[in-house]
Amino acid sequence: MTKVNKNFENLVPNYLFADIAKKTNEFIKANPDKKLIRLGIGDVTLPLAPVVVEAMKKGCEELGVKETFKGYPDYEGYEFLRTAISDYYKSFGVNVSADEILVNDGAKSDAGNIGDIFSEDNVILVTDPVYPVYVDSNIMAGRKILYADGTEENNFCAMPNPDVKADIIYLCSPNNPTGACLNKEQLKAWVDYANENNALIIYDAAYEAFISEDDIPRSIMEIEGARTCAIEMCSLSKTAGFTGTRCGYTVIPKELELDGTNIYKLWYRRLSTKFNGVSYPVQCAAAAVFSEEGQKQTRENIAYYKENAKIIAETMDELGIKYTGGINSPYIWLKCPNNMGSWEFFDYLLNNIYVVGTPGEGFGKNGAGWFRLTSFGDRENTIEAMNRLKGLMKK
Ligand code: PLP
Repeated sequence: MTKVNKNFENLVPNYLFADIAKKTNEFIKANPDKKLIRLGIGDVTLPLAPVVVEAMKKGCEELGVKETFKGYPDYEGYEFLRTAISDYYKSFGVNVSADEILVNDGAKSDAGNIGDIFSEDNVILVTDPVYPVYVDSNIMAGRKILYADGTEENNFCAMPNPDVKADIIYLCSPNNPTGACLNKEQLKAWVDYANENNALIIYDAAYEAFISEDDIPRSIMEIEGARTCAIEMCSLSKTAGFTGTRCGYTVIPKELELDGTNIYKLWYRRLSTKFNGVSYPVQCAAAAVFSEEGQKQTRENIAYYKENAKIIAETMDELGIKYTGGINSPYIWLKCPNNMGSWEFFDYLLNNIYVVGTPGEGFGKNGAGWFRLTSFGDRENTIEAMNRLKGLMKK
């Protein structure tokens, strides 16, 4: 008899985005004349940079010629791309060698699959509010999950508690959904905790490219001691608009050993069994992101989103609404005014100013009473949404 993985029954059904879509669609149906503005999306809206498109086209053309045709790519990614990523790390002073980088089809795959190489009896620690992939993938594997609270009091930067023993810790900075960032000192505290407890940190740096303040680490590998306790996951999705193109990378220090086992080798073993690599044209496109021109063009897009974030943040300042994020992050995480609940505020914005955001409680219990706006919309709509919000709040 076939038996299914009953751990799936422990997953909380993902009502959040379904409920948002349902409420939004009902509103549109009832109010076809109203101009809706979506600031809830976590997807980018600007097109790929021209240099990236050219590189992808060239990659396709090479596949169409016998002499340059390529079959299966290397599991860990072509050397030209891994070298480009390694040089990128060097550009902000971090040494990560090309053979510590594994290219993937986006950070979600590795974030969701990395648990394959770890025993089911590891205790997991996530910060709450949390990107749901860390939680759900560990529920599927039947692991125990502990939560470190990110709250208004700690500016949504949960810190390690020496009395709590965890084996695998997920950190995300700049954070989705809160936009909060761990500074060097805070990240060092987590690295020290992990080394003291023989624990692993899985560091999600998907929003690293949005960091502009010097004190905020771009990579956990900047922190002394990280190479013996951390792996890092990055993505080109938000950095270069690759949400539809699909490419990311994971960094595993060669010397990282846990439970007497080399983690790079263990992950490589898993990868070569279950993954056949990222397509050549996409890897060409990814390498172009790290070229001089690619950096210039993709940074222009990031600057555009960051300007949107600034417009939202300035509006919050003007309205006296407390928030985190917006400076080193595309997300603004705000406290719902007048003690409204997340969903109450969602309905309030939708019905009064036709703006859609994301209720914070969808990201964990500490998200109750908070709300996420994103800067991935277009400029005109962002400005209009903020003007509508000012009009509403000042009534
Ligand atoms: N990590 C975080 C924190 C994210 O917010 C996202 C996407 O929203 C991802 C990873 C996934 O990125 P990718 O598109 O590379 O799979």
